Amino acid sequence: MLLHALLVLLAALLPVAIALLLIRAEADQLAHESSDEAAQVVIRQADAILAQAMAVSDHLLPLAGRPCAETAPRLRETSGLLPHLHAVLIAPAHPYYCSGQGAMPRAPLDALLHDALPAESDGHALLVVQDSPIVPGQPALLVVRSQADGRRVLVALDGRYLLNFLGAAAPAERYRLAVTARGHDGALRRGTGGAEAAGTRGRLAYVATIDSQRFPYAVQVGVRASLLAERSARLLHSYAPVIVLCSLGLGLLMRRVLKRQLSMAAEIRRGIARGEFHVQYQPVVALDSGRCVGVEALMRWNRAGMSAVRPDIFFSVAETNHLAVPLTRHLFELVARDLHGRWLPLDFHVGVNITSEHLESPEILDDVARLSQALALQAPRLTLEVTERQVLPGTPAVLEHMRRLRAAGVRLAIDDFGTGHSALAYLERFPVDYLKIDRLFVSAIGTGAVNAPVLDLIIALAARLGVALVAEGIEDASQAAYLRAEGVGFGQGFLFAPPMPADALVAWLESQAAASGGAAPPGHATGPAVVPPLA
Ligand code: C2E
Ligand code: CA
Ligand code: CA
Repeated sequence: MLLHALLVLLAALLPVAIALLLIRAEADQLAHESSDEAAQVVIRQADAILAQAMAVSDHLLPLAGRPCAETAPRLRETSGLLPHLHAVLIAPAHPYYCSGQGAMPRAPLDALLHDALPAESDGHALLVVQDSPIVPGQPALLVVRSQADGRRVLVALDGRYLLNFLGAAAPAERYRLAVTARGHDGALRRGTGGAEAAGTRGRLAYVATIDSQRFPYAVQVGVRASLLAERSARLLHSYAPVIVLCSLGLGLLMRRVLKRQLSMAAEIRRGIARGEFHVQYQPVVALDSGRCVGVEALMRWNRAGMSAVRPDIFFSVAETNHLAVPLTRHLFELVARDLHGRWLPLDFHVGVNITSEHLESPEILDDVARLSQALALQAPRLTLEVTERQVLPGTPAVLEHMRRLRAAGVRLAIDDFGTGHSALAYLERFPVDYLKIDRLFVSAIGTGAVNAPVLDLIIALAARLGVALVAEGIEDASQAAYLRAEGVGFGQGFLFAPPMPADALVAWLESQAAASGGAAPPGHATGPAVVPPLA
């Protein structure tokens, strides 16, 4: 019951988990898009401001070298019109530079420019400084207009102004901004202050870096993790009704499936008591002669007033509800009743499917002994088929039961060989007589399907280990011919005969025997009536 509740809970939580993953991905995508978008807008605005600073520097360049008393009013006038720009003039061999306030000693400014820019070049350059005589104590972006004769105009863009201005496109509570001049160290940053960086607001979820196509600088826009969390919360809020509905739906569906399983388990118990199960037998033939050498017993369930249930389905329900052993024991009783006293050819094999749980339980020895006892008159060779789809535990109990069964003349087959995960491991650990090649590989013959080479591998493996092969699901003559040519000993499939009830089987066997001229009188059992001791 606890397991069922857990499964229902897991089913209900599944949509929540999927929704959270999708929401996270969508919020991520939004963050990428919005940081790219913000960086583009920032670049456009910064380009416009820089173009203005460049134009100012070009305009003022002819004034460099003129007496400062003459140029200072012009510089003050520029600053008055464009308060975020501070222009100064430098002339070669002058120990002073000229600003709006008048002449200033050049040395501190030269020291700033010295490392960063080659002297006497012609053109514009950009430089980020954290402090300068032009905007003391503040970071600034310097536009340097130089001429080959050594004259220069410096236009300083106040860093605070620039970042505040750009901040309109990328608000500080959502984004972190940095402007860097290409080829130079240093950056103008906003949003990395100590107190802020220490908090969660400081963490970044994504960073977009975009280069300006017009000027040598780049802008970095970082999206704060808090923005991502806020977007995720908003998405979660809007999807919440759908998530709740899906959770509820899946939880209820799982509950119904489990309930149906439980009720099917109860019906299996009732079906056994009411005699709703019967067995069909499918002939297994020797591929070289076409002679029938045995049958596989396959269980059928006709529920009163209901459609038939497939055996793989009711056996899987039986397994999960610990009913596989009682059901197989019932199968043994039905086989014993069906075949008791019937005529069967000499040395006839009867294959029955058992589960690994049954093979591990000590009851298997008694159950098989009882079946052998019931068929003592015909003494067919019993073959127990264990599917490779289930894990067969290599416990001492399983190995001991296998040893004792084989010692008593019971054959063991691995069913559906090649479809499990442990084909080789099985063969190394468990002593078996037959491998039943799954019909998946038989149907691949002649189709060029990816499974086709696996069939050849299985055949080679069996030959090396000296284990006989039975091919399942042979439906046409070309498959039979291929398998025969490859040395596969036995086959089973609609080509030879479908599963049929016991009466039909006996009639079929008699007609086969008559056709080959070796029929024994119906109703007459042949073969030694020896029951091998098992337990
Ligand atoms: P399986 O043991 O591999 O049985 C072979 C299945 O292949 C049978 O299906 C049989 O009818 C089908 N078959 C035989 N020849 C052909 C063919 O030429 N073409 C095709 N397409 N199919 C063919 P069935 O009887 O429906 O059984 C399905 C599965 O259910 C079995 O596979 C087995 O895993 C399980 N099962 C059936 N009866 C029992 C049983 O008594 N005990 C246990 N534990 N499992 C059983
Ligand atoms: Ca089988
Ligand atoms: Ca099989």
